[in-house]
Amino acid sequence: MKKKYTSKINKIRSFALALIFVGFIVMYGAVFFKNNVVLVLIFMGLGLLCIIASTIVYLWIGMLSTRAVKVICPNCGKQTKMLGRVDMCMHCNEPLTLDPNLEGKEFSEEYNRKLKNNNQKI
Ligand SMILES: [Zn+2]
Repeated sequence: MKKKYTSKINKIRSFALALIFVGFIVMYGAVFFKNNVVLVLIFMGLGLLCIIASTIVYLWIGMLSTRAVKVICPNCGKQTKMLGRVDMCMHCNEPLTLDPNLEGKEFSEEYNRKLKNNNQKI
């Protein structure tokens, strides 16, 4: 089974979008407990928390985007943003790398992790 990779920025963005939906669904769930004020408050609070968390994630994406490296994807020719040493094209999911040593190797998100570990040892 081949794992499907997507661009990190896209991944975080869909996570933030999912949080908004969860927040609204949870808040909508409060309607079913309208006879119980405590439950309504808990559901509304949880829903609001999800939406606040999503806003924070969106701000975080904005910060990450400014640090991301802009590259032209060799596969589709569009401009995409990269996070870390290896990432996927945001448009066609082509694996991209900034490290020439990893070029041609099979894509793995492990490379980012390994780099972090090596830095810690030094
Ligand atoms: Zn591409």
